Amino acid sequence: MSKKVEETVQDDTLKATLGLIKQSVDLLEMSNDVYEHLRVPMRFVEASIPVEMDDGSIKVLTGYRAQHNNVLGPYKGGIRFHPNSTPDEVKALSMWMTLKCALVGTPFGGGKGAVVCDPRNMSIKEIERVSRGYVRAMGTVLGPETDIPAPDVYTNAQVMAWMADEYTTIMREPAFGVVTGKPIAVGGCVGREEATSRGCVYIAREAARTLDIPFKGARVAIQGAGNVGGFAALLLAEEGCKIVGISDSKSGVYDPQGLDAQKVVEHKKKTGSLEGISGPKEITNEELLALDCDILIPAAMENQITGKNAADVKAKIVVEGANGPTTPEGDKILKDNNVLVVPDVMANSGGVTVSYFEWVQNNYGFRWDFATVDKHLQEKMVEAFGNVYGFYCEHCTGSDMRTGAYMYAIKKLAEAMQYRGWLHNGIYA
Ligand code: NAD
Repeated sequence: MSKKVEETVQDDTLKATLGLIKQSVDLLEMSNDVYEHLRVPMRFVEASIPVEMDDGSIKVLTGYRAQHNNVLGPYKGGIRFHPNSTPDEVKALSMWMTLKCALVGTPFGGGKGAVVCDPRNMSIKEIERVSRGYVRAMGTVLGPETDIPAPDVYTNAQVMAWMADEYTTIMREPAFGVVTGKPIAVGGCVGREEATSRGCVYIAREAARTLDIPFKGARVAIQGAGNVGGFAALLLAEEGCKIVGISDSKSGVYDPQGLDAQKVVEHKKKTGSLEGISGPKEITNEELLALDCDILIPAAMENQITGKNAADVKAKIVVEGANGPTTPEGDKILKDNNVLVVPDVMANSGGVTVSYFEWVQNNYGFRWDFATVDKHLQEKMVEAFGNVYGFYCEHCTGSDMRTGAYMYAIKKLAEAMQYRGWLHNGIYA
């Protein structure tokens, strides 16, 4: 990493991302100009969002939007509502979106947003006011041809509907394509809600096939019981996998014979927690990551598999449903222990892929049925896995699949930058 960046970046996740981008540019023997374009967002917006709380008081929240790179198309990426969100986290997440879109072949750049708040302690009305306030604060930074948000941690289809409504009211035009992940009734796409998980399942199946592990009957542990983790549990169970454990921010459950995924997910939905389910043993998050299983799917937050606990991972495959769940130290230990890590930019790209389908349908005023969405999603996922795994085997077996994915994506981005005239001295050093 260039000295300048090392000196200014404090956040470990952003530092690690920049390190990987720089390493990939160097391994590809590309000019440092490619890295210069990718090391900072093209635009970063921080805005105050005044929100009236139910008791009449005003809270001024902070909102962020990072627009990392739009060489391939409009910025695209989720908005999270989380008390620990920081500018650097949002920047790193926007960089991953740029790589993800390039890798899977959607005509989008990378963006990401956040509001620093805890919706778990807020009423529905307060969450609605935060959602609308975000759109008012960001104003014309967003747009169906400019920057298109989607759901992320602690945001959902309802939040997207409020955001689309606020945007169309401000702009005085029906531009529902400004966000994706909307409810079907307001221009959403069938299958979008579970698309990230469905993509994860197709990727997990490809990874298992690659390692000759029978997918039917494979034992799977999942960290996170939200949108990605919850749907992944249901879909994997449908595929005949055995869900041996699942956890959320407070606790987890474990059954070596296989959990009843439907019952667990319904309990979580109804009570907001995994506690109190009759039957399975209760476990901690740490124990979940160390379960005896074939496939581990971290589907919660960043920095969960680290230098401290990676050696305990017994899974043969880690499919990163979450963004950034493995630290560089964790990655190294998993590599040394021959664990195949399918990186986030590949493993959770099903969401942005179906978001792309939603955006296309909004632009054309046309509706696809589920069979069409699923067929295209499956094709995209299988193709992307094949491309990245093939590139990794050919160019970087000494390293890991994450490096292969970064290199594959950066190659595509650099080529586009070259054609658009952003690299006056050419791609290669
Ligand atoms: P969500 O809010 O629906 O669920 C998050 C889950 O993680 C909850 O069950 C929560 O209890 C749990 N959790 C939070 N902190 C935890 C901790 N420290 N340990 C264990 N569990 C914890 O969010 P989501 O949409 O499912 O997103 C999860 C991850 O997937 C995030 O990294 C997100 O960026 C990534 N992702 C989401 C999508 C999408 O379409 N929703 C797409 C791509 C990537």
